[in-house]
Amino acid sequence: MQLKCSNCATPFVLSKEVLAEAIALFKENKTAHLNVNCPKCRRPVRVVRKTLEMNPIYRKMLESEPEQS
Ligand SMILES: [Zn+2]
Repeated sequence: MQLKCSNCATPFVLSKEVLAEAIALFKENKTAHLNVNCPKCRRPVRVVRKTLEMNPIYRKMLESEPEQS
């Protein structure tokens, strides 16, 4: 999914690895946040649960039960 840098307004794509990490984190802690670095200005961009909830696919993943291994 796409994210926009809050510092320089550059749009960039969140990698699947980062998304998986974020989903796991938000499932454990609803108020947690993740910082990803903007590819252009290198400053941290905050990713919160709400960011993922805007996308219906990731909202479903957040609401689903944790997988049993
Ligand atoms: Zn930036």
